[in-house]
Amino acid sequence: MSQYTPMIQQYLSVKANHQDAFLFFRLGDFYEMFFDDALNASRILEITLTSRDGGSSDRIPMCGVPYHSAPGYIKRLVADGYKVAICEQVEDPRQAKGVVRREVVQIITPGTVMDDQLLSDRDNNYIGSLALGEKGEYALVIADLSTGEAKGYLRKAEKSGILADFSRHRVKEAVLDSSTYSEWKDSIHNSQEFTASSEDRDEIPDGFSGHVSHLNHHLLHKAAGRLFQYLKHTQKRSLGHMRPVIVQSDDVLMKLDAFSKRNLELVETNRTKGKKGSLLWLLDKTMTSMGARKLKQWLEEPLFIRSLVKQRLDTVEALYSKFFEREEIRQQLKNVYDMERLAAKVAFGNASPRDLLQLKLSLQNVPAIKAQLSQLDCAGSEELLMKMDEHTELADYLERAVHENAPLLLKEGNIIKEGFSAELDEYRDASVNGKAWIASLEQKEREATGIRSLKIGYNKIFGYFIEVTRSNLGGVPSERYERKQTLSNAERFVTPELKEKERLILEAEEKMAGLEHALFLEIRSHVKNYVPGLQQLAGSLAELDVLQSFASVSEERRFVKPVISESGQVRIQGGRHPVVEKVMDAQEYVANDITLDNNHSMLLITGPNMAGKSTYMRQLALTAIMMQVGCFVPADSAELPLFDQIFTRIGAADDLVGGQSTFMVEMLETNYAIRNATADSLILLDEIGRGTSTYDGMALAHSIIEHIHDHIGAKTLFSTHYHELTILSETLPSLKNVHVSAVEEDGRLVFLHKIVDGHADQSFGIQVAELADLPAPLIKRAKHILGDLEKNGKEPVQVIKETAAALEQPESQLSLFESPVQPAGKTAKKSDSIIAMITSLNLLEMTPLDAMNKLYELQKKAR
Ligand code: ADP
Repeated sequence: MSQYTPMIQQYLSVKANHQDAFLFFRLGDFYEMFFDDALNASRILEITLTSRDGGSSDRIPMCGVPYHSAPGYIKRLVADGYKVAICEQVEDPRQAKGVVRREVVQIITPGTVMDDQLLSDRDNNYIGSLALGEKGEYALVIADLSTGEAKGYLRKAEKSGILADFSRHRVKEAVLDSSTYSEWKDSIHNSQEFTASSEDRDEIPDGFSGHVSHLNHHLLHKAAGRLFQYLKHTQKRSLGHMRPVIVQSDDVLMKLDAFSKRNLELVETNRTKGKKGSLLWLLDKTMTSMGARKLKQWLEEPLFIRSLVKQRLDTVEALYSKFFEREEIRQQLKNVYDMERLAAKVAFGNASPRDLLQLKLSLQNVPAIKAQLSQLDCAGSEELLMKMDEHTELADYLERAVHENAPLLLKEGNIIKEGFSAELDEYRDASVNGKAWIASLEQKEREATGIRSLKIGYNKIFGYFIEVTRSNLGGVPSERYERKQTLSNAERFVTPELKEKERLILEAEEKMAGLEHALFLEIRSHVKNYVPGLQQLAGSLAELDVLQSFASVSEERRFVKPVISESGQVRIQGGRHPVVEKVMDAQEYVANDITLDNNHSMLLITGPNMAGKSTYMRQLALTAIMMQVGCFVPADSAELPLFDQIFTRIGAADDLVGGQSTFMVEMLETNYAIRNATADSLILLDEIGRGTSTYDGMALAHSIIEHIHDHIGAKTLFSTHYHELTILSETLPSLKNVHVSAVEEDGRLVFLHKIVDGHADQSFGIQVAELADLPAPLIKRAKHILGDLEKNGKEPVQVIKETAAALEQPESQLSLFESPVQPAGKTAKKSDSIIAMITSLNLLEMTPLDAMNKLYELQKKAR
């Protein structure tokens, strides 16, 4: 250390406490970075790397950014998952003895950003903290600093389950104790899903005891303590907007595991990971970002309490039937800004004049919203009304205080409205009058001197001056005019009078700026008293926004209000898959009924691939979830019970990256369902056993059905291509066979997408392969083999042996790579196959790139 200059020594001692962050070290008008930080930052931010003498024999790598453009660079680093520690000069350099004192004033991290440009309006920005228990149990506290929300969870899992829990909650940053941090940081870093941070302090910091006093488990206290400590030590400022940690008891919510959320594409699709095509995309007609975030939260946590579901459904019904009131509410909500984040910014101390203006404008819409809401006349609307305080007093205060054109930045001035402060108005008058006086001086002096071209001007260095061109200098009254500056063709003068006025103006303006600043801080701290009330209001407006969104989408897509079944029966008529229906022409979607009751709680669904089995299964799960979040459902009529959990094993959600084979994933998901389901659950199992050999698969499918039937009794939809299993309905009384109908027309397979009782006669596998355009000789061959197996009743092994022998004959050899040149008579066949290819495309599952490739292929074929 001693080899370095005192300033570099200071840098190194600060850096020692902030190893995992880029240290932005303030030197005059720049933030400088040194050593490795400089090497890395210059590469990431593409800024010039220089070096400086720091007292050692080698020069020290250095790079820097001007302080006024630092926010842009900080944003880039944080968006890339890095942390930035801001180290400021905390004493006046003129007063400093030796090196100016410097301190880290804030650490900006991916989970603690408050900057609008780094936050997405419609998504929460979560940070999570962990407390590990002795026997695999752990507590997770998830918070959003930008809104003040905090939630707690108590669970049990292995390391991989805990990491999955963090990513399921979409946290940007996980705060761990230092030993867990060291152990896990590499795998977290490699997964690139979120940033890891360490914090060992886990006692509840001062001022936060009220946030946790209701929590009944020491691990929740520890996780909350860790989180609040981390926020306190990184942000180093008021966290007055953070709300108590909410812990939902397990029986309030429908449980939805990570597999099912993904399989059902609730908030994003599996393929693109985008919102488009998800249930969230379909249901989102919210008008505010608060509402959009709330809708996403609701979809991730459907309710399991009858009274709560009923109350939401009733409110949606009221909004649905009162079109004009709903439209009015929608229009008013459009003018409501993100009050949740505005309130947080006020508490945090970074609300701008524009933010206060937006808060005022939002508040001014509340009375009109409440007036419409009071027309709805239902328990839900009454409750919302009670929670919506207009804060008239605050709105009036802001109306008086903040200027209509308040700027984005504090330093731009013109923040405070006239009439709010007599002192400020006085300075303003002085400045305005002084300027008017100066403006009239030009005319006065022209008359007094007779110089018509005399001008009054202003510049930053000399202030106000009187300018006279060289040719008129003779007319200058030298006893009054004092020479200030000589230009090539003119002279500039001041008079004692002008100087005095200028002094008054400048003094007034300086005082005005200082006073405006002080008043603004005063206003902001006054608004701070309202933060909890504003958060409650924001929460209620967000709720109303989601409910109106449900009503609007229900009307647009012809959804109906479901009946919550008391007896556990499912009776849906004309049910549809809401997303598939939306993306395809509504006329084409084939609606289907579904009935399940305690006598027939399981359906075994057979039918060819592509017939619509998994769509039918998802349809039920989505209908249940829609009801349990409080939305109407896609059907002509629907009655269904509240499900405590939904388990799904559908489609290709293979965790190939995680190293799990398709079959293993299938078994893991099935295991999870079987171990956790109850008689109140819904289980959807799609083609279980397909990932292994026929006999294995069939045997497993058989025993899984029996197990659910005999030991769980959950409502279950089980699709299979093992037609042999349909015989189980003879021995398992609760199991019923249904199938998706398909017919062969003119030798071609036509899917009817209609679910009918009984089992399918045929699997049509070869016809589907034909639609997928496998080579014609191969299809012919498959049909031949099938004929042998079916008609002649031969064993598969025998058929394989016989056909293998036949293949030895050269004339019956078939090639997958037959010449593409077709005899003339086959042209029609080719266009058929192109049509078949087009109709078999699963547009929902395709990315634009897939579509391009397919189109290319089709064109090639057509040519
Ligand atoms: P399966 O699970 O039987 O292989 P899917 O459920 O994946 O079949 O359905 C295949 C395609 O058929 C879907 O992508 C959809 O385009 C279409 N489809 C499914 N059900 C219907 C329906 N009820 N009405 C119209 N089209 C449907």
